[in-house]
Amino acid sequence: MDLGIRGKRALVTAASKGLGRGCAEALAAAGVDLVINARGGEALEATAAALRAQGVTVTTVVGDVTTPEVQAAVLAEGPFDILVTNAGGPPPGSWETWKREDYLKAIDANMLTPIALMTAVLPGMITQGWGRVINITSQSVKSPIPALGLSNSARAGLTGFVGGTSRQVAPFGVTINNLLPGSHDTDRIRALDGGDPAVRAASMARIPVRRYGTAAEFGATCAFLCSVHAGYIVGQNILLDGGVGNTTM
Ligand code: NAP
Repeated sequence: MDLGIRGKRALVTAASKGLGRGCAEALAAAGVDLVINARGGEALEATAAALRAQGVTVTTVVGDVTTPEVQAAVLAEGPFDILVTNAGGPPPGSWETWKREDYLKAIDANMLTPIALMTAVLPGMITQGWGRVINITSQSVKSPIPALGLSNSARAGLTGFVGGTSRQVAPFGVTINNLLPGSHDTDRIRALDGGDPAVRAASMARIPVRRYGTAAEFGATCAFLCSVHAGYIVGQNILLDGGVGNTTM
């Protein structure tokens, strides 16, 4: 299927590895020129080189996207037709030990950073009458994971923002949707598994498809939601979890 977005420009933050990279790869395959970001310059440049091999233009911005300075630096590369927001997830832990600073850090990374990026790019998208925003959130939005309470809390706030704002920008041809990963085979999930093959096998056994998801299939879903065919999908929270969430809707 031709996604109809060849020649458009996208910003994908936190994109040198994992799900962000999966999204960048799928957009590059659809002919989208990219600005990508991550803190580690070496991995970011390696990813950029792989993306350029697909024939698209790729600009890199090194730095922590949760800081105002790096947000300004990525936005200076605009304007953008497509925005994919992503950042690292908060560490696991327990409600008994989290302090105000822990919550503020999580809210900054997983709620206020995507909101700041959206606030900056939405006016241009509205003016041109077309835009696509995808936020990478988590299955924890629908099914909270107790040890990831910092993530549960921050991402719930972002989800509320998107629910309302997506309806305000939809009249102008701009869609905002969230993609909710379940367990995808990235560095993040390997860290949460503690590098223990038994933990990994037990975790996969609880998933109806009996495996972790891949960054490539996650990215393909992202690229479709960024396509010309997805203009009627607004304010949705799309779960990619291999069937773990046992709900009818
Ligand atoms: P990952 O494999 O660890 O990759 C994270 C990517 O983001 C790397 O490129 C990393 O590069 C970059 N990054 C992290 N923090 C950043 C920051 N502050 N500024 C700029 N770049 C940053 O993680 P992932 O599995 O793809 O997860 C992506 C997001 O989805 C996370 O928020 C995670 O919590 C969420 N999620 C993932 C899963 C899963 O199954 N994988 C499930 C639920 C939710 P640098 O380290 O060099 O910056």
